[in-house]
Amino acid sequence: MSDLPKIQFLELPIEMEKEFFYNFLFKSDLSKYIFKRHPRIENVYKIKSLEKRMKFIEKYIEDYRDINFKTIKHNILNYELAWKKIEKEYFTTLAQIIDIKWPRNRKIIKAYLSINSICPRFLKDWTFTTYYNYPNTKDVLEVIMHECCHFLYFEKWKKIFPKMSQKRFESPYIEWHLSEIIAPIILNDKRIQRILKKKAKFYEEYDNTKIGNESIADHFSQLYLNCVDKMSFEKLLKIFYKKIKNIKI
Ligand SMILES: [Zn+2]
Repeated sequence: MSDLPKIQFLELPIEMEKEFFYNFLFKSDLSKYIFKRHPRIENVYKIKSLEKRMKFIEKYIEDYRDINFKTIKHNILNYELAWKKIEKEYFTTLAQIIDIKWPRNRKIIKAYLSINSICPRFLKDWTFTTYYNYPNTKDVLEVIMHECCHFLYFEKWKKIFPKMSQKRFESPYIEWHLSEIIAPIILNDKRIQRILKKKAKFYEEYDNTKIGNESIADHFSQLYLNCVDKMSFEKLLKIFYKKIKNIKI
């Protein structure tokens, strides 16, 4: 039991915040999620030079963080308090479902509070970001569970497919899609629902893309229910993998 990791809650270093904003604004199709919380930052597209863009983003982040300083500090504690109540039970249950022990060399998972609500995770050092001001505690618990699920899930994946290049664990590879589909499915498992008590969400694209009449999210959720009591997680994963390889996402 002592091998379970612990989560540390911290404010995201400003250099990382800047870099993530820039990447989401200029190198991804996720910018709409930034505008939702930060409409004024859309003005950055009027700026031509890279240097001035970075300055604009930096100033925006600094001002925003100054104004919301108290909430950020307060929620670092709030999140930690809410998480500590379920940490042990969640990590134990997750290990049972994925059928793997937590690795001994990963004692700390860092959760960085960010003013950006897109929450990237980093498999190489087991860190992730989470939005600093969710209206509901269950929302942040869902994000934390989701990201931690990825960390343990890929440990299992590496055991089953040891030769696979880890670049396939990231977007846009099908292995990455599978990890994003399976995370909410695991959180919706009844054993986790006893702890989370909130239905976990899928990315919109998995709700909107259809296989026959069903969405991908519904299709794989049903497949999970059909498999989970009958076979090992490894077997289930191989079935999922075979299936998703034949789908165009
Ligand atoms: Zn994810």
